[in-house]
Amino acid sequence: MERTKFILDEKAMPTKWYNVLPDLPEPLPPVYHPVTLKPVTPDDMKPIFPMAVIMQEFSPERYIEIPEEVQAVYRTWRPTVLHRAHRLEKALDTPAKIFFKYEGTSQAGSHKPNTAVAQAYYNKQEGIKRLTTETGAGQWGSALAMGCAFFGIECKVYMVKVSYNQKPYRRILMETWGAKCVASPSEDTKIGRAILADNPNSPGSLGIAISEAIEDAATHDDTHYSIGSVLNHVLLHQTIIGEETRKQMEMADAYPDIIVGCVGGGSNFAGQFLPWIRDKLSGKKPNMRIICVEPQACPSLTKGPYTYDYGDTAGMAPILKMYTLGHTFVPPPVHAGGLRYHGMAPIICHLYRLGLVEARAEHQKAVFEAGVQFARTEGIITGPEPCHDLRVAIDEAIKCREAGEAKTILIAHSGHGHFDLAAYDEYLSGRMKDYAYPAEKVKEALKHLPKVPSA
Ligand SMILES: *Cc1c(COP(=O)(O)O)cnc(C)c1O
Repeated sequence: MERTKFILDEKAMPTKWYNVLPDLPEPLPPVYHPVTLKPVTPDDMKPIFPMAVIMQEFSPERYIEIPEEVQAVYRTWRPTVLHRAHRLEKALDTPAKIFFKYEGTSQAGSHKPNTAVAQAYYNKQEGIKRLTTETGAGQWGSALAMGCAFFGIECKVYMVKVSYNQKPYRRILMETWGAKCVASPSEDTKIGRAILADNPNSPGSLGIAISEAIEDAATHDDTHYSIGSVLNHVLLHQTIIGEETRKQMEMADAYPDIIVGCVGGGSNFAGQFLPWIRDKLSGKKPNMRIICVEPQACPSLTKGPYTYDYGDTAGMAPILKMYTLGHTFVPPPVHAGGLRYHGMAPIICHLYRLGLVEARAEHQKAVFEAGVQFARTEGIITGPEPCHDLRVAIDEAIKCREAGEAKTILIAHSGHGHFDLAAYDEYLSGRMKDYAYPAEKVKEALKHLPKVPSA
């Protein structure tokens, strides 16, 4: 029997993150300030981020050393395992070789601690005592709560009220790790109080939660804000995933023809594929395919225009050049909460624009069908987000069967679905429905794009 697990020794864990910025064939477009509409400078970011992170956002260095203290925390769950999905291959009767790199074994159950731990560390180094953030279903909030626990800093999470009431389990994780989690809108900020005065029953939104978290950070000297995806430094911290996978694929004596992953803000998938795209950019592997998968209900890459938009729903974050559905767009309530973001990481958008990565949009029933097939063959209950990767990987493996091609497919598996069992229940009982692309709502939202000088 061929091997199924490729396990990297702790001592062989990569000690550097890979920064793609110096390798891009063209530089990224500038980022604009949401109020002044001028290009953002490092100084603009100082009230909410630590200097080390701001420098990473613009860094010209190809490799950035992972601090010893961050490596030590990474080692509590890293290196993560690269698996060969022999049983899935057999079920599909495909000559394709399917590998998946599984990030679900972190304490929080996803890739998100890779950046949460790094951000908590850099803030601690600069004397910050407290971090704030927003969370929807709670994946990011729980990862940051864990990161803050490791470095002894306080964490305050503004959780969208509907999720706070409907999905208590991740809140309980956050509280167990020592974070304060409040339902947003809350009485703790000026903007929260104003919204509650107006509508005491406001269900909250990600935009409101972000506004509260940023107001809290901006009005407390000892407090910074922390973000879980989209920005360059977050993608950088996630490259530990791909750097490990490169070593593991070498152990497997394999090289990916196709890499597939889900994209919400883009951080987990970029963390896997950026270390590989080097070979495509250098011309060593020009035919390698990199496929970004998004929900049909929120298809920013496949349906959005490439234009300037606010990074957040509230219009407080920097203005980024992205494929976007408009920052005021509220996607239908698909279960893949992590993929319901209106835009996409500028690095991924830029690579997509240059034709270096592909994109595909999938409906949720087909996505869960793949998740169930994976559970019944490989045993893992996959989060609704990475079920999107499974759909595309399975379809590509079936194409290999039909064409008689033994391609190597690498799946960027971002996390487990143990807190998403209600979604599986809905699928298994036949109650799950698909949402068509909400073209009218997108058209409306695109009327509210900011006007920047060069756009
Ligand atoms: C948050 C999340 C995502 C989406 O965010 P990205 O920044 O695109 O990675 C995907 N998968 C899981 C498991 C998540 O928690």
